[in-house]
Amino acid sequence: MDDCLFCKIAAGEIPTQFVYEDDHVVAFPDINPTAPVHVLVIPRKHVPNLSAAADEDLALVGRVAQVAGVVAERQGVAESGYRAVANTGQDAQQSVQHFHLHVIGGRPLGWPPG
Ligand code: 5GP
Ligand code: ZN
Repeated sequence: MDDCLFCKIAAGEIPTQFVYEDDHVVAFPDINPTAPVHVLVIPRKHVPNLSAAADEDLALVGRVAQVAGVVAERQGVAESGYRAVANTGQDAQQSVQHFHLHVIGGRPLGWPPG
């Protein structure tokens, strides 16, 4: 999608160090990390958020979730624990309208979130 930051990152138009990459999914560090590990996992396809996922996107959304686990393993937080979060819509303060899972870990995380 034109004018979508994460589409441009996924397409390699904005130089980004991927920590995971396959034909359908990429993952890269958040520019403003909130924890020692803070990685964003996104589909290459432009899906705005979970609510916009169509039936044809179900495997892709599942793949993003699976890759979150792979990333957690690679980042060394699979055993200590981590959170995989999809902020969706205004009240959740979704700021980039391209579906992404935040993989956050490396310190004790408060619950519930704000
Ligand atoms: P959201 O607020 O939509 O749940 O998450 C968007 C995330 O994208 C934020 O945590 C923000 O720090 C991150 N972000 C925004 N712009 C960029 C960028 O250009 N590069 C990277 N790596 N992360 C970004
Ligand atoms: Zn996009």
